[in-house]
Amino acid sequence: MTQILIPGCSIPSAMSLFQRKDVMHELAIAQSIITAVDGEVARQSLPPVTRIVVRVGALSDIVPDALVFNFEAITQDTQFAQTKLVIEEVDVKAHCKACGHKFAIENLFFLCPKCDSGQVEVTQGEELHIAYLEVDDFN
Ligand SMILES: [Zn+2]
Repeated sequence: MTQILIPGCSIPSAMSLFQRKDVMHELAIAQSIITAVDGEVARQSLPPVTRIVVRVGALSDIVPDALVFNFEAITQDTQFAQTKLVIEEVDVKAHCKACGHKFAIENLFFLCPKCDSGQVEVTQGEELHIAYLEVDDFN
């Protein structure tokens, strides 16, 4: 198995590109993933992709199961029919603007545990990007 990194290949932030109320949210994201991977496969003449690993932040408003379900549904009769979509969930981390403390946010509790300030900035957890692809070995 060979891992292919796609540098800078992020799916535009779920929150900027898709409306939260959009019922087709995960479907639209699954399509974006396929478009991005498809482009990369063509560009690098890659062998069949066995896995697509996507990192999804806990705040990205994506339901992993729904994303996998939609991905499988739309890849059925395509070159990605045998490709597995793997989702790695990323924890939410923040940084306090008042005291500089860096911490992990649990249960969506956005207060600095050190100084109780509400001026916290999320530094991780909103992302949605393709981490890497796994392809059959080049022969
Ligand atoms: Zn603080």
